[in-house]
Amino acid sequence: DKVKVALNGYGTIGKRVADAVALQDDMALVGIAKTKPDYEAFVAAGKGYDIYAVDPVKAESKFKAAGIPMAGSSKDMIKKADIVVDAAPSGIGAENKKIYDKMGKPAIFQGGEKHEMTGTSFNAAANYDEAIGKDFVRVVSCNTSALCRLVYAIDTAFGIKNALVTLVRRGGDPDDIKRGPINAIVPDPITLPSHHGPDVQTVLPHIRISTAALKVPTTLMHTHSVHFSVDGTPTRDQVLNALKKWRRLWLIPGWFNIKSTGDIMEMGRVLGRPKGDMMENCIYEDSVSADGDSIELFQAVHQESDVIPENIDCIRAMMGMEKDKKKSMDRTDRSLGIGD
Ligand code: NAD
Repeated sequence: DKVKVALNGYGTIGKRVADAVALQDDMALVGIAKTKPDYEAFVAAGKGYDIYAVDPVKAESKFKAAGIPMAGSSKDMIKKADIVVDAAPSGIGAENKKIYDKMGKPAIFQGGEKHEMTGTSFNAAANYDEAIGKDFVRVVSCNTSALCRLVYAIDTAFGIKNALVTLVRRGGDPDDIKRGPINAIVPDPITLPSHHGPDVQTVLPHIRISTAALKVPTTLMHTHSVHFSVDGTPTRDQVLNALKKWRRLWLIPGWFNIKSTGDIMEMGRVLGRPKGDMMENCIYEDSVSADGDSIELFQAVHQESDVIPENIDCIRAMMGMEKDKKKSMDRTDRSLGIGD
């Protein structure tokens, strides 16, 4: 029997998780919840998704006027589901948790919520087993997910003594017209370190990591400048081989002539990836260097999509559908074209 998944919150992350769920042969999408009918609802209806209203009393006449069928309330949707993926805006997940608690439904939250709310934060490669059988789990943010993948790969191969990361963050998503900056570089936060290091430690508590973050005027991906001190003195080839073991870590060959996040996003579009998404960590192979106990590299992170496969694996872990993380990750990656 397929596990029934409901999507509460259908924005940047929610719409991508919904499409990914619909592609899994061991999952069925019960529906999505929207606050109002708009172009996203129009597209979802075209895909045949059942659309539920977060507040049906307020929304009913609007759905009627738009000609979008309303399948019921989000509570009706949640009732039908085995598990809810909550992708509502930061902080709203905490409100929604009260509903899931009351209705006895397991739920996944996103990185905008606090670790303490679930007590379990998730990254498939790094701590899949911790989520097995849990009722509430948080999939960490886009930046933290990418860092967890990379940190786990390097730590299991060489042992990390210390990690130092500078994150250059996109100002907003392409549709986030109210975010910025539009013409400045903003240390965010100015106080150091940034919260990203402690957030990695919610998944990998034994890692020593310090992070600093700056926001810049772009919507095309984040970029991390990463420095590890490791046990021993690996060669550059050994580092490359350690990274090649993971499909979610993509080494961009130098000859691809990819010089920026602009090129990476363009490649996603010309590859015909759904929505142009690049769900892998995009590591510039030419940046990877090893010197003594130091490893350095640049990686770009597509904020809108890297957490999508993590949500799918998290569903499998929580519902006990697959005990072996590699098997779940393989299945997810194959269905989404990751690493192809
Ligand atoms: P978003 O604003 O694009 O989408 C949120 C959607 O939820 C909107 O469609 C909104 O109308 C809807 N919504 C509002 N109130 C709701 C409610 N009570 N119930 C159900 N739906 C409701 O937000 P997003 O960027 O997709 O972020 C969602 C979560 O994912 C946040 O926790 C965020 O921190 C996290 N996240 C975002 C990114 C990113 O780059 N956008 C990356 C990783 C994680």
